[in-house]
Amino acid sequence: DAERHLSLRLIRRAEDRSLLVVRDVSQLLRLEQVRRDFVANVSHELRTPLTVVHGYLDMIEPEQVPEYESILHELRNQSRRMTQIVEDLLTLSRLEARDDLPRERINMRPLLLALSREAAALSQGQHTVLVEMDDGRDLLGSTKELHSAFSNLVTNAVRYTPAGGQVTLRWQREADGGARLAVADTGHGIPAQHLPRLTERFYRVSTSRSRETGGTGLGLSIVKHVLQLHQARLEIQSAPGAGSTFSCVFGHERLLEPLALAGAP
Ligand code: ADP
Repeated sequence: DAERHLSLRLIRRAEDRSLLVVRDVSQLLRLEQVRRDFVANVSHELRTPLTVVHGYLDMIEPEQVPEYESILHELRNQSRRMTQIVEDLLTLSRLEARDDLPRERINMRPLLLALSREAAALSQGQHTVLVEMDDGRDLLGSTKELHSAFSNLVTNAVRYTPAGGQVTLRWQREADGGARLAVADTGHGIPAQHLPRLTERFYRVSTSRSRETGGTGLGLSIVKHVLQLHQARLEIQSAPGAGSTFSCVFGHERLLEPLALAGAP
């Protein structure tokens, strides 16, 4: 017989009586694997044709087709968008296929400074970007994946905050010995009923506004997966008109005291 996966649940009914529920979830897991493979294959197959379309569109100069200039512009935008969606889907597939990531010592100061520079570049001087380092400890995790996850949060904070607003990046110690990276903005905010669904693939609060911002609707899904692989969680605080704070919360086992400087006492 093929390998079977069982889910066991023990329910206590009374002092001296319990119920053991055994469920065969093999079929469910197989279907989940089929879904994953399908998404990964489709994304991979779309990559080449998209590269070709993109390449040819880039070869056409707007002056060559003056009457189609706005159409050319729109075609380029949409092909770039499609490429971004495919890349994000591939990133998600890659993350889903892993059960562990490298554990590197990450110095948070340069990382936060790099993120603040990304925010400033995207904002083009329209927002105030602040960095607050309340915890001097290093984080243990994958530099590449965490940078991309934090970068998603920072990009959203700028995108969904009108000009004149503020974006704050804060590295902060938690009472239980862990730490959090908080990305706070003074933007539109999000109505409570949407919060539980924000990390679903393609879920967006206001489709028209979100689409204009150029995102793919996959950013927070990626963030959730990266954090799960670090046994960390995403906390979202937001209210319409009051801005949003997205926090990545890490357990104490992920934190390291900074290395002593050579020559320091
Ligand atoms: P997108 O590419 O649309 O930004 P995400 O997965 O990153 O996709 O975010 C999902 C949705 O959550 C966004 O479309 C937006 O509606 C909402 N959202 C995310 N971050 C913020 C924020 N800082 N302020 C307000 N809304 C946000």
